[in-house]
Amino acid sequence: MTNAEKIAVVNGWQNDPGVHPLTCGHNAAHRPLVARTEDGKVILACPDCAYTQTHIPDVVFAHAPLPRDPAELANAARDLKAQFDDAHKKGMAALKDGDYKALGEAIERERTITEEQATLIPPPDATKQPAKK
Ligand SMILES: [Zn+2]
Repeated sequence: MTNAEKIAVVNGWQNDPGVHPLTCGHNAAHRPLVARTEDGKVILACPDCAYTQTHIPDVVFAHAPLPRDPAELANAARDLKAQFDDAHKKGMAALKDGDYKALGEAIERERTITEEQATLIPPPDATKQPAKK
């Protein structure tokens, strides 16, 4: 897990109204601790005093939504790719036949498949560079 991911997990916990936020070790009335990096490590710091802690409880990470199983993701992606190829083939055949209704349906099908493909991957983290090919 990268530091950016750890900070995102801590922020998720601190902003979740369903759990008790991590608070200052000096004064629990201070505002919830804020995650930041210090010397390359993620630490928790009190915004109201100098209190910091390096320990982030395991329960915070256990709380984070688990990434989907890569094998399951790959299968889902392959399945959608096959569906897309099928729709594309139908679209090309419809174009050849001059059947514009079928072509429109095939394009619409391709569009929904593309949208489903996009949901397989969580929205990109703004703090990360886009993956290079
Ligand atoms: Zn404090």
